[in-house]
Amino acid sequence: MANTKYIFVTGGVISSLGKGIIAASLGKLLQARGYKVTIQKLDPYINIDPGTLNPYEHGECYVTVDGHEADLDLGHYERFLNTPTHKDNNITTGRIYQNVIDKERRGDYLGKTVQIVPHITDEIKRNIKLLGTKYDYDFVITEIGGTVGDIESLPFIESVRQLRWELGKNCICVHLTYVPYIAAAKEVKTKPTQHSVKQLQSEGIQPDVLVLRTEHKLNKEILRKVALFCNVEADAVVQSVDVSTIYEVPIMMQEQNMDEIILRKLGIEVGPKPEMKPWREFLDKKKNATKTVRIALVGKYVELPDAYKSINESLLQAATYNNRILDLHYIHSEKVTSENVEKLLSDMDGVVVAPGFGQRGIEGKFVALKYTREHDIPTLGICLGMQCMVIEYARNVLNLDEANSTEMNPHTPFKVIDLMEEQKNISNMGGTMRLGAYKCKLEKDSLAYSVYKKDMIEERHRHRFEFNSDYKQELEQAGMKCSGVNPETGLVEIVELPEKKWYLGVQFHPEYNSTVVSPNPLFLGFIKAVVDNKKK
Ligand code: GLN
Repeated sequence: MANTKYIFVTGGVISSLGKGIIAASLGKLLQARGYKVTIQKLDPYINIDPGTLNPYEHGECYVTVDGHEADLDLGHYERFLNTPTHKDNNITTGRIYQNVIDKERRGDYLGKTVQIVPHITDEIKRNIKLLGTKYDYDFVITEIGGTVGDIESLPFIESVRQLRWELGKNCICVHLTYVPYIAAAKEVKTKPTQHSVKQLQSEGIQPDVLVLRTEHKLNKEILRKVALFCNVEADAVVQSVDVSTIYEVPIMMQEQNMDEIILRKLGIEVGPKPEMKPWREFLDKKKNATKTVRIALVGKYVELPDAYKSINESLLQAATYNNRILDLHYIHSEKVTSENVEKLLSDMDGVVVAPGFGQRGIEGKFVALKYTREHDIPTLGICLGMQCMVIEYARNVLNLDEANSTEMNPHTPFKVIDLMEEQKNISNMGGTMRLGAYKCKLEKDSLAYSVYKKDMIEERHRHRFEFNSDYKQELEQAGMKCSGVNPETGLVEIVELPEKKWYLGVQFHPEYNSTVVSPNPLFLGFIKAVVDNKKK
């Protein structure tokens, strides 16, 4: 089709309504009709990217194949659409300003006063349209972070207003709001929605479609009332009721013809309703599962499940494809001790040791790993989790008592995990880790090969420290197999213990490329091993 159409998704009333899920669901429905779709997120904060943010701030930092540290919503986009996103799919206010300031320093503005309108808004519009022109998408869906009325998001909203004029019929605005239920009055309230739409209108944008987020199903009358007050066609007000899984949202939107409404408004022939077969098959599997797998996730950000978003979703997908209900338990690594580890982990079917940075909670990860190794509980270590597997093995099997990563102790006598030469002189923290997709060659006779079933894989990385190959021989002789290496640098990317049922650590992040219709083999294999082990 090309002649790219632009769909903007804004949010009002409160944050955390799930704009990302609505954007991803809409994208999924359009993609199911055969269109080429991409989704972009505009984040109103000043950070250049979320790479330097603490997970407590915005949850997990997602990584794209081209090595961009991105907002976690890009993870949803990939899990729904099953197509990769890139650096261009996530723009922050910081990056917009940085580009404009760089241009100003180069003299590109020819002596003009540089202002928010038009220079910042021009840069925002350029970044939105770039996706359409550079990659030839039929639809670019742009999610505007934050809530309308925020000071921070004003330049983004203003850019959308301008683009509506420039793009005319090729542009549409979807606004997501919240309809609260007041228990004392036993009523849902539409006033916040009305105010939110007024706010958007006062910023120059009339929404074309409204999505009402609600905990209780809304009746036709409420929807009609909102349409009337907000200047929106009656059938263009849809609702998003709480569902048991986010993966049901596309189906819920399809039932309300959201994609048809949008196609019609854009003047595109609607065509037959797509079946969404693989998607529905996944949902059926999820619904029909009766048996459970108990998985522990050992990490230090357990108070905030968003910090491990992609891992949670990957485990859920893998459990579903193994016909199991995922029963995930977050175990705070700071609280694991040799005294309580038995109580915490003995009735777990499998254990995942999470990625992370810094010293806090690290000793608990060693204790957990020693326990799962000695008790042969299926274990998956991811990034820092894999590094901890190596350290724990060096300490307790090779008897190198003070073995460590130089991240935790720069003076350790046994640097089993260490900085790469290229990393040693880096002082800037932003965007300087080993980031993005790297190839990894698997050893034929290994657990890794048995799950991936090919000898060359590609997975995404986000770390500074590496397995120190000086210890490779010693570790291998003691029983730790290095089953995956980077074919160019020889860096060890996977370790495993062949004498155990399933004990494997990966330096990369397999969770970044596990999607609903294409789950990552490593998670599938891990859960399968857990299920098989349980049967015995
Ligand atoms: N902190 C470790 C490193 O930088 C691991 C990072 C991670 O788990 N993503 O190498």
